[in-house]
Amino acid sequence: MTDVSTGSTPGSGSGFLDYAPAPESTSVLHLKQSYGLFINGEFTEGHGTPFQTISPATEERIAEIANANSADVDAAVAAARRAYERSWSTLSGADRGKYLFRIARLVQERARELAVAESLDNGKPIKESRDVDVPLVAAWFFYYAGWADKLDYAGLGPAPRALGVAAQVIPWNFPLLMLAWKIAPALAAGNTVVLKPAETTPLSALIFAEILQQAELPAGVVNIITGAGDTGEALVNHPDVNKVAFTGSTAVGRAIAKSTAGSGKKLTLELGGKAANIVFDDAPIDQAIEGIVNGIFFNQGHVCCAGSRLLVQENVHDEVVERLKERLSTLRLGDPLDKNTDIGAINSREQLERIRELSDIGEREGAERWTAPCVIPEKGFWFAPTIFTNVSTSSTIAREEIFGPVLSVLTFRTPAEAVAKANNTPYGLSAGIWSDKGSRILAVADQLRAGVIWANTFNRFDPASPFGGYKESGYGREGGRQGLAAYLESAGWSAR
Ligand code: NAD
Repeated sequence: MTDVSTGSTPGSGSGFLDYAPAPESTSVLHLKQSYGLFINGEFTEGHGTPFQTISPATEERIAEIANANSADVDAAVAAARRAYERSWSTLSGADRGKYLFRIARLVQERARELAVAESLDNGKPIKESRDVDVPLVAAWFFYYAGWADKLDYAGLGPAPRALGVAAQVIPWNFPLLMLAWKIAPALAAGNTVVLKPAETTPLSALIFAEILQQAELPAGVVNIITGAGDTGEALVNHPDVNKVAFTGSTAVGRAIAKSTAGSGKKLTLELGGKAANIVFDDAPIDQAIEGIVNGIFFNQGHVCCAGSRLLVQENVHDEVVERLKERLSTLRLGDPLDKNTDIGAINSREQLERIRELSDIGEREGAERWTAPCVIPEKGFWFAPTIFTNVSTSSTIAREEIFGPVLSVLTFRTPAEAVAKANNTPYGLSAGIWSDKGSRILAVADQLRAGVIWANTFNRFDPASPFGGYKESGYGREGGRQGLAAYLESAGWSAR
C-alpha cells in the first residue's frame, strides 16, 4: 500500500512517516482446540457435524466448533424454559440487575482477550474491536442492568411482564456487540435466552459463555448454540419460544416473518440498509471527509447502517471526491491484529465474492471505479477501499447492499432532490447529513425515512439511543427504553 505522505509502503520502514508493525499480543487468548454448545450452564457436544472457524486474514484454522442439530435446539430451549420458570422469573429486578452489572464488569476485565478473539475470528482491525465493539458491549450491559428494577417506567404501564424464552439469531459483522444488543435487554426484562451466533464468527460468543459461568448466572438463563442457517431456522421455528429477535439479511428476515406469522411469537427484525450520507456545499469539508470514511470504511463496510450512498451537492462534488481519494490513499490495509491497521479482512470468501460481483456489475453499468492503492496480502480475503463515481440512481450499486468497503457517489442540486434520492431505496435504517446550518439539518432530517439520522457525524452508537429501521430494514427497536418493549408485554394482555 502506498502512503501518500511519504510515497512509500507502510510498515516497510523505508520512509520518515512509516509505521513499524505493531501487532497486538495474542497471549491473552487461551484458545481451546474445540468448543461445545453452551446449554444449561455447561459446554456439551453437539449432535451435528462440527465445523471449523478460520481467520479470514490468514485462512488458518482457529478452532473446531460444535454444530447444533434439532435435538440440541430442543435441549437448549428446554433449558431456557426451565430456567425461566424455576429461577429467572422468581428473581427481583434488582437481583437480575446485579447479574448484568457483574457480566458488564467481567467484559471489561476480559476486554483485551475479547477484542483479540473478535479481530482474529472476524477480521476487523483490533483498534475497532478494542476501542468500539468491546467498550460498547460493556456499556450495553451496564445500561440495561440499570433498567432491570425500573421496568414500571419502560412505558408499558405498571408491572409489565417478561415474554418467556427468547430465540435470538445474529450476524457476523459485530458478533459480540450484536450479542449484547440482544442478551442485555432480554435478561433485564426477565426473559431467558437461546442465542445463535453466525457460523463464521462464533468465537467471542463462546468466550462470553465462559464469562456467564464466571458470573455464576443461573444455569439455562442464557444458552448459546452454534451452527449454520438450519440451526437458526430450527431455533426460530421452535414451538416453545415466545420471542424471536433476528439481525441479518432482509431475505432471511422475510422468511422468518413468514414462518412465525400467526404463531403468537413476538418478532423483532433488524435487517439490511443502503444509507444515504448527504453532503451539502456548506458542510465543514474536513470533518465530512472523515465522516464519509468512517461511514463506509469502518469495519470494511460490513455495517448495516453504513453510509454506502454518498449524495454530494453538485458544486462540491469534484473537491469532495478528490479529497476522499487522498484520504483513502493513507489508509492501511492488512493484519487485523496490527494496532495501525485501518482496513482489515473481509469476513469470508463468500462475502468477498459478493463484493467483487456487485462491483463488477457497477462498472459494467457505466459507473467509474477508483481503488485505493493497497498491497493485498497473498493469503486471506481482502478488498481495497473503492469509490464509484458517475453512479445513477437506477444502478445496481446504488440500490443493493454491497456490505463491503465500496462507496457509490451520486450528486444532487437542491435539498428536495437530496431528500428524494435519499428516500429512493427499499431500505430505511440510517442516514447522515453534513451542513453548517442547523435549520437545514432539521428540515432535511424531518423528511428522511430512516430510523437513525446522524448530523455532522456518522456511526455513533449509545445504549440509550434506540436503533432500528423502516421498510425493508425491519421493525422493532434495539437500545434505549424502546429496546425493552421488544421483550415485555403490558400486564393487561398476553402475547401468546
Ligand atoms: P444472514 O441473514 O445470512 O445471517 C444472519 C444469521 O441468520 C446467521 O446467524 C445465520 O446463520 C442465520 N440464518 C441464516 N438462514 C437462516 C434461517 N433460514 N433461519 C434462521 N436463521 C438463519 O446475514 P449475514 O450475511 O450474516 O449478515 C449480514 C446482514 O445482516 C446484512 O444484510 C446486514 O445489513 C444485516 N445486519 C443488520 C443489522 C441491523 O441492526 N439492522 C445489524 C447487523 C447486520
